[in-house]
Amino acid sequence: MDIFDHKGICLREGKRAVYLDPANSRPDGAVTHAHSDHLRPNTHMTKPTADVMKVRTGSTKATTHDYHEKFKINDFELEFISAGHVVGSAMIECNGLLYTGDYNPYGTVTSGKAEPQECETLIVESTYGKPDQTLPDRNEVLEDLQAWIGATSDNGGGIIGAYSLGKAQEVIATANTAGIVPAVSNEVGSVSDVYKKYKVPLEYNRYEDLDDNEKNKPGLLVTSTSATSGKKPDTAVQELRRNGAKVARVSGWCAFAKWALRGVDAGFPISDHADFADTMKFVEECNPKQVYTVHGSTKELAKQIEKKLGIKARPLPKYGEVAIEDYN
Ligand SMILES: [Zn+2]
Repeated sequence: MDIFDHKGICLREGKRAVYLDPANSRPDGAVTHAHSDHLRPNTHMTKPTADVMKVRTGSTKATTHDYHEKFKINDFELEFISAGHVVGSAMIECNGLLYTGDYNPYGTVTSGKAEPQECETLIVESTYGKPDQTLPDRNEVLEDLQAWIGATSDNGGGIIGAYSLGKAQEVIATANTAGIVPAVSNEVGSVSDVYKKYKVPLEYNRYEDLDDNEKNKPGLLVTSTSATSGKKPDTAVQELRRNGAKVARVSGWCAFAKWALRGVDAGFPISDHADFADTMKFVEECNPKQVYTVHGSTKELAKQIEKKLGIKARPLPKYGEVAIEDYN
């Protein structure tokens, strides 16, 4: 089987091909999850991924499958396996190959966890592929976040900016653990409704449904990153800030990048991706003969896998970089 990057991750056997996380909509493609850099309509996906696509884009064009249901595309047999990243996120298994997509082997409260799978060939994402990109203990950061939510909700209010799909639901779950039912933006609310459909117990109220009194004092507001970063000025956020509310960002990048803390009062480095240490452990436990790295610090991660684990590794070759016959 030839494996290369050409308008997505292409697996090819003779004239047959299948595309994982393709660059364009295509019926011979399979997507791992509903983040916009991976999601394409008119492909194969899990049911929760299709539900998120519907609320975010209006599109219902998808062929859906359950986790562990074997299905075929051009005679390749594929299977979705939980990736622990966001609701519906999947790794893809195909003929002894495992593609992780965005995955979280540490696990999240709301989306389970990615379990290593024995495989011949592993295609692994490299978001945090550099050795110094190791995150602080997740449970400790969650405890800090819970304490911040409790303190600000009682005292002027808190606003948290987080990715609307994935991180925002972790924040809602953390607030619920602290006994707080947060207000949420419509964007966060519509995605959270999909989580509830798949039995993730989240409690929240839409900010727009609150009465005027509650709107002035929502306790905690969970909204998108862009609403708190100034990229998409949000009048409710601005008004609450003027009245003394504190703003926090929840993102793994708070541990590594100054830009992630710009314009906010606090940052909590919680990620839905594997950090460097977890990536190395995951690769070792999959025990592959060959690793290809994609998305992020691909060269650095491949070098570390070869050096520290002794497994053949390289960034996924682009079409044309390797000899592949008869490709159209
Ligand atoms: Zn993602």
